[in-house]
Amino acid sequence: MRRLTVIAGAILALAGALPLLTGLAAEPAVGREVEVPLLVGKFAFSPPRISVAAGDRVTFRIRSRDVTHGFAVEGTAIEATVLPGREVRVTVPAERAGKIRYRCSVICGPLHPFMVGEIVVRPNLWPLWAGALALGMGLVASAGVTRSAARADLLGWRPLRWLLTRRPFQFALIAPNLFAFTLIVLAGVVGTATGAANFATIFVWLAWWGLLILLLIPLGGRLWCAMCPIPAPGEWLARGTLVEHREGSVGLGLNWPKPLQNLWPAFGGLFLLVLFGLVITTRPLVTALLLAGFAAVALVTHLVFERRVFCRYLCPVGGLIGVYSMAAPLELRAGDLEVCRRCRGKACFRGGAAYPCPTFQFPGGGLARNTYCLLCTECLKACPYDNVALRLRPFGADLHVARGRRADEAWVALLLLGTALAHSLIKLGPWGWIKSWANFEGGVEFVLYTALFSGAVLAGLPGLHLLGAWLSRTLAGAPHVPLGRLFVEHAYAVIPLSLGAWMAFTLAVVLPNLSYIPRVVSDPFGWGWDLFGTRATTWTWMPLGLMPWAQLALLLVGLWGSVRAARRIVAQTLGDGAAARRGLVPLAALLVAVTWGFVALYFG
Ligand code: SF4
Ligand code: SF4
Repeated sequence: MRRLTVIAGAILALAGALPLLTGLAAEPAVGREVEVPLLVGKFAFSPPRISVAAGDRVTFRIRSRDVTHGFAVEGTAIEATVLPGREVRVTVPAERAGKIRYRCSVICGPLHPFMVGEIVVRPNLWPLWAGALALGMGLVASAGVTRSAARADLLGWRPLRWLLTRRPFQFALIAPNLFAFTLIVLAGVVGTATGAANFATIFVWLAWWGLLILLLIPLGGRLWCAMCPIPAPGEWLARGTLVEHREGSVGLGLNWPKPLQNLWPAFGGLFLLVLFGLVITTRPLVTALLLAGFAAVALVTHLVFERRVFCRYLCPVGGLIGVYSMAAPLELRAGDLEVCRRCRGKACFRGGAAYPCPTFQFPGGGLARNTYCLLCTECLKACPYDNVALRLRPFGADLHVARGRRADEAWVALLLLGTALAHSLIKLGPWGWIKSWANFEGGVEFVLYTALFSGAVLAGLPGLHLLGAWLSRTLAGAPHVPLGRLFVEHAYAVIPLSLGAWMAFTLAVVLPNLSYIPRVVSDPFGWGWDLFGTRATTWTWMPLGLMPWAQLALLLVGLWGSVRAARRIVAQTLGDGAAARRGLVPLAALLVAVTWGFVALYFG
């Protein structure tokens, strides 16, 4: 049966991959001359999408209905400036079937980076082929066997252990980020209100977010938390020192309330963050106030409660990173648990020569997941036996840990997947009306948007997931397994796909807008400075036409990881064997369907 599934999956994947590759190499066709009047206004093209046949040459007659805009076709050198009151003609050859994206290339207001339009070139069967590829890969992944791989301790390399156990090291990581943080808040408050020209929005939502989602989380899990400047002032104040270890605390050291000892506060914050995402990411002042607010809450909680309550329970970004860090190929764990069993002081948890674990983790007590480990290295410095290891491991290893799966983490995982899809639609899609609804431009529209967004991410996707759990239980013939347990545990399987989806989304936001980074470095406040001569940097990254391919690759890797994790998880919840294989079908089908949803959006 397994072999049959692998063969069927491989054939399906090949059937999807071959037309995709040959379509890419197809000879340009010759067709009609097509003229299209295109009206440009803040922040959409009208019509937002047109459909032509492969080989057609599309000549746009472009007019602006408000300010000066630009018209640039991604992945080509075709670009024009559209002044109000003047018609500009631009010809775009639609040589091959697929999709061509164009965007505004002159900063025109807050939503400028997301002002895009699309030419769908018929016959566009690419969503179908990419869907077949996803389905085939899903089938192969569902039949594969996960082998446990060896884990290498990076701290076996002595210079690294030496470096990580120096107290000034973490300070050296945080200090430059604190400087950037201060500049971000300052730029947000005193700089231009145009997001694309302000250091605050560009640095936070392009540079930092891109680095976080595309590199730090997938490779290092919570590595960012080791250098995050937000909790630093509160921590330094509560400890009464910047670098050295000092006994006692300046803070009150109260216990955090038990009912809030979970990720629900972070879940709430994360939901608000993604709901207001378009406003936050395009308004420098909102970005600055948000970050300053985070720092203020972190400061107060440090002084009132014990350890890093903000990072453990409250930080919305921490909730996101924590859940995704379970998929990362890096883990900090105790080296030899037998040494820990004999260890009397348990300094990693209680403190000793260094501070106790700021998030109440206990490496010596069998720390099993990355979720709450900030990689702050205190336990490394505290352990008198050098028994803490920093290991490379297979991707997604924590998702196989059956013990301790929780509803709050499961809901964060589902929220992240739903919001990846919602934000892809809002920010990457050509539909101006969704953008203006999400941009707080009208009271009624914003209420409607809030209802739609909340319904989709809090009820729609979780509802489908619940249905999948019920079907899994029914197909597996296991009515005794509580549905709530299946809902929670199966949700961990979506984490790799969800991370892949956020990476695919982030790539499409960051790459076309990369030129704004050198610009704001020279002119952080948008006041016309040119400190480093980079204020006029322009960027046309030719391979942008290949963006959907990179997105597809990220989605497929995520799908693969998710289905593999689902296979393990279902075996834990519904038992191994034929029943579990039947129980896997609805969960794997949902994962493939969601992947196809993204594929349809990016290729269709
Ligand atoms: S201090 Fe070291 S040896 Fe003791 S429990 Fe913690 S990791 Fe284990
Ligand atoms: S003390 Fe150790 S276990 Fe605790 S957050 Fe820091 S690195 Fe992670």
